[in-house]
Amino acid sequence: MAVFCERTAADPGLLARPDVQKLTPYQSARRIMQAAGVTGEVWLNANESAEAEPMAPETKLFNRYPEPQPEAVVERYAAYAGVSPEQILVTRGGDEGIELLVRTFCRPGEDAVLQFPPTYGMYAVSAETNGAEVVNLVTSPDRGWLPDVAEAAKVLEERTDVKLVFACSPGNPTGTLIPVGMLRKLAELTAGRALLVIDEAYIEFTPANTAVELLKDYPHVVIIRTLSKAFALAGLRCGFLLSSPAVIGMLRKVIAPYPIPVPCADIAAQALSPESVSLMHRRAAQCVMRKCELEVALEDLDGVEAVYPSASNFLLVRFVDAARVFTALRDRGIILRDQSRQPTLENCIRITVGTKDENERLLTELEEILKEAA
Ligand code: PMP
Repeated sequence: MAVFCERTAADPGLLARPDVQKLTPYQSARRIMQAAGVTGEVWLNANESAEAEPMAPETKLFNRYPEPQPEAVVERYAAYAGVSPEQILVTRGGDEGIELLVRTFCRPGEDAVLQFPPTYGMYAVSAETNGAEVVNLVTSPDRGWLPDVAEAAKVLEERTDVKLVFACSPGNPTGTLIPVGMLRKLAELTAGRALLVIDEAYIEFTPANTAVELLKDYPHVVIIRTLSKAFALAGLRCGFLLSSPAVIGMLRKVIAPYPIPVPCADIAAQALSPESVSLMHRRAAQCVMRKCELEVALEDLDGVEAVYPSASNFLLVRFVDAARVFTALRDRGIILRDQSRQPTLENCIRITVGTKDENERLLTELEEILKEAA
């Protein structure tokens, strides 16, 4: 018979796996601000789209389960991405895709993932919550935060436990684009040993640079996509994994039976119609224009040390005193994402490109704040 324990009776959280108890959860941009009780007006901290069409699904009955993989969404995304339907898995956002990859390919307590920080936080969170070690190859601003392929080759030579290599392009939070030629080299050296996972959550802001061509030559390459960014549907929770039928087949064994709710599938299919896709492309191009304007204006400000080139819908900016800028803007209702705690990003803030008005308001307030400091 189990022994009654007062400690765990009072706090059943203590029954969780010891490694899980020690983890720090992923700090979502929303959650950090909510925890601080912040009621901002201009939200430029989560790389969402600033503009969107309202989308109302037709009224439906919900007594039946949805399709395990909504056919219309799969077909349309296949046409959009230039792959075949068997190469696609629809997931609850790119985040579920990351989690599924770890759960499918890493044995808890035995296997590892390799990543190139500063990078997206969920790779490490998913690995750690599933008992996979995280191997970090920190990149340097001097090399534009590009992965060091020779270093990666060394790690893969030495460690047979690395099963997933995460490369984010364009990178969050750096904005760095990894050239397809470099991703091809990573694909060469991971072949037969590990999956190369290329996170293209922001690829619509630089569509010519997709690595999708690698899927033809390398069945172990996986590409992560999402409707959360350029498609302006972060609230929908819809993402995609693109890979070979062999990899997708394994992931299908692990994914929950009905991941995509009926209304989400309807809206996703609507968002992937040819008209919506061309609207998305126009909006993404306009966002890139606003990013360039914002970049030039930020570079001119005293107190800004660097605005890094970004292939995405955000800018990474190094300030003389990021903590002061972040707090002062927050107190004025403008919410950004402080990245100072990531390796090599001391005093860096990530700014999502907003609407024209939001960007202007940001610049006006920022100018005032930086003048006060001078
Ligand atoms: N990858 C990257 C690089 C991201 O920045 C994000 C969202 N912040 C995701 C994946 C996951 O996005 P979602 O789950 O909304 O599709």
